Amino acid sequence: MNGKTRLWRDSKPVKINDACDIRDSIRSGRISAEEVAAAALKRIEEADPRLGAFVTVQPEQALARAREVDVKVRSGQTGLPLAGIPVAVKDNISTRHLKTTCGSRILQSYVPPFNATAVQALENAGAVVIGKTNCDEFGMGSSTENSAFHVTRNPFDLDRVAGGSSGGSAVAVAAGMAALALGSDTGGSVRQPASFCNVVGIKPTYGRISRYGLVAFASSLDVIGIIASSPRDAALLLSTVAGPDTCDSTSARVPVPDCLDGLDRPVKGLRVGVPREFFDPGLDHEVKNIIDDALRNATVLGCEIEEVSLPHTPYAVADYYIIAPAEASSNLARYDGVRYGYRAPSPRDLADMYFRSRSRGFGAEVKRRIMIGTFALSSGYYEAYYGRAMKVRTLIRQDYEKVFKGVDVLMAPVSPTPAFRIGEKTDDPLAMYLSDIYTVTANLAGIPALSVPCGFTSGGLPVGLQILGSHFEEATLLRLAQNYVNSFPVTAPPPQV
Ligand code: GLN
Repeated sequence: MNGKTRLWRDSKPVKINDACDIRDSIRSGRISAEEVAAAALKRIEEADPRLGAFVTVQPEQALARAREVDVKVRSGQTGLPLAGIPVAVKDNISTRHLKTTCGSRILQSYVPPFNATAVQALENAGAVVIGKTNCDEFGMGSSTENSAFHVTRNPFDLDRVAGGSSGGSAVAVAAGMAALALGSDTGGSVRQPASFCNVVGIKPTYGRISRYGLVAFASSLDVIGIIASSPRDAALLLSTVAGPDTCDSTSARVPVPDCLDGLDRPVKGLRVGVPREFFDPGLDHEVKNIIDDALRNATVLGCEIEEVSLPHTPYAVADYYIIAPAEASSNLARYDGVRYGYRAPSPRDLADMYFRSRSRGFGAEVKRRIMIGTFALSSGYYEAYYGRAMKVRTLIRQDYEKVFKGVDVLMAPVSPTPAFRIGEKTDDPLAMYLSDIYTVTANLAGIPALSVPCGFTSGGLPVGLQILGSHFEEATLLRLAQNYVNSFPVTAPPPQV
């Protein structure tokens, strides 16, 4: 089904998950934005009951919006880089007048009065927001099983997870229900589901895209990320939504390059480091072989491969699982039943209202994180846990700074295994946390990283190749990824849908 949703007009097909193709077809008048939106909605109607990628779909609004775009395009309005492109938005990113649940019961009827800056950028660029995608509650998880609403299934094997926490966004693109999607990545939530679902996922440099309107999980790690079916499409979206923002003081005051420019320029001579710590005994054998093949392919492209070391990587999961919950425990204090969100009925007093609203509103994993984080920050333990974790974080960042003096980029696996079975890790939080081993370091260091499809296991499950770079080097990562798929495209076997 990947890429098979096609609109036929003048005998040339338009693929719903090829954003650049849609853009060109709409611009040339070969197809209308309304037709594209209608096709995406039809695809959602057909496929989503089995996949569960969406929490909310807005058919009427999307069609109305598409008609507006058509009027603008026909009147010759230029400067709409995403005109008519159907985009899915993770449900922890604020959308004006459109429910934003964060996959949580506590926000299940929350309708924001404002757009996230990234969503506003989409709208200004002429994109059509088609709906909101399912995720682990507040982004806490690696499988989308922690959504309060339903699980999202992997389109390559319905008994397996889509990955997470941006599982819905990855599946929306993988299954041709949207051309592009926004996700968020605090410790791997864009790259890992992209890897599990055979799509491209990029986590930009911390601060590259405004976090205004991204519901906070761990503010020093959170970034809005992008899911697309090709590096080119990811570059198109990144160039549109990135940039400084006065509403987010942590957004980077650095110019945004046109990532589409020079995307196919050869990568001959690029120095690629392979961090040996990412090839530990926990790495699945088949995944390792696929990544080894990808490294050989990179040499065919003219890259110079060398082994490097990031010695503090073994501490990364422990480090992340102190820092992220610590920040989460503070960020989630606002959900107390007073200002917005779920309030438990007929409380005895204020304390009872807080207690029952939070007990019923939050799911098990979120509560676990709040408890871990509160403990790590508590008086008497703060230095031993949070203080030390911050020092380890500095060491991890320094590992990367050192390594990028000698190489341009790094190549590594995204996840130690392909998509696991639904339910396989739900009773074992530690096993779930450990699966984040190869993704959390990029967030701790604040550097950009992406996942690009590079192969399939013998069981037909996708495997992604991770490419990491130094701060603000997204254009290099995307160029290498585009060169890679130009020469070594991974054609998807028909998914089980
Ligand atoms: N899996 C990680 C966690 O559970 C990362 C999640 C994310 O990036 N939002 O925290």
